[in-house]
Amino acid sequence: LGRREIRPAGTEVALGPTTIGDGSVVVIAGPCAVETPEQMLATAELVAEYGAVGLRGGVFKPRTSPHSFQGLGFTGLELLVEARKKTGLPFVTEVVDPEHVKRLAEVVDGFQIGARNMQNFALLSAVGQSGLPVVLKRGFGCTVEETLAAGEYLLMEGNDQVVLCERGIRTFEPSSRFTLDLTAVALWKQRTHLPVIVDPSHSGGRPELVEPLSLAAIAAGADALLVDVHVRPEEALCDAKQALRPEQFAGLMTRLAGAAAGL
Ligand code: PEP
Repeated sequence: LGRREIRPAGTEVALGPTTIGDGSVVVIAGPCAVETPEQMLATAELVAEYGAVGLRGGVFKPRTSPHSFQGLGFTGLELLVEARKKTGLPFVTEVVDPEHVKRLAEVVDGFQIGARNMQNFALLSAVGQSGLPVVLKRGFGCTVEETLAAGEYLLMEGNDQVVLCERGIRTFEPSSRFTLDLTAVALWKQRTHLPVIVDPSHSGGRPELVEPLSLAAIAAGADALLVDVHVRPEEALCDAKQALRPEQFAGLMTRLAGAAAGL
């Protein structure tokens, strides 16, 4: 269902008022995890000011260690709604449980399916049935084809609002958190009609890698970027090491605008 031949012009995904896949490169940004009203609102206002067209923020955080911050759950969702009201930006948030889909669907603009749940088929089907946009993150041990197969589970429910996300895979290379696989970006763009988003934050795992990985992702054909930003990364409860500070996000957006203008 996702094959490029089926829709050669490509699919546009409508996230609230934002379109992903219309030929321009858009940025969705925000904290890895929603933590406090002040943190979420300040970060949302900041990313809106510098040109992001969508917000990200996890309220259900599937962490490797059960001792790590697990997210605020439905309470955090209210903060995302508040941030949307303040900025006018739509948001995506991760869903981890098929039982949560209906309740979340009443308020979210789009779902995110995390790397650890890419092959949770019951979750894929439930999210597909919601009809809402979905950012489907590649499992860090999954192939290009397996990711496409996971996408088919969404498409089979009659939902074509699917954005494939490359967020890095696990390799023998320890100098970055994961290895960003730009081959996947090029292949997905060639083989499917779905838009592709790249997460340079979770892949590189370090702020100084976000800009080069973002520029490389765009060169490989990415339609969008998913970027971790925090007003005070040193206080972040989740993935503190990779979040961009306000001035780093501003710099990134300036650089991306320059690249789009051919500078
Ligand atoms: C995230 O984007 O919040 C996240 C947890 O990413 P991933 O599922 O790619 O690890």
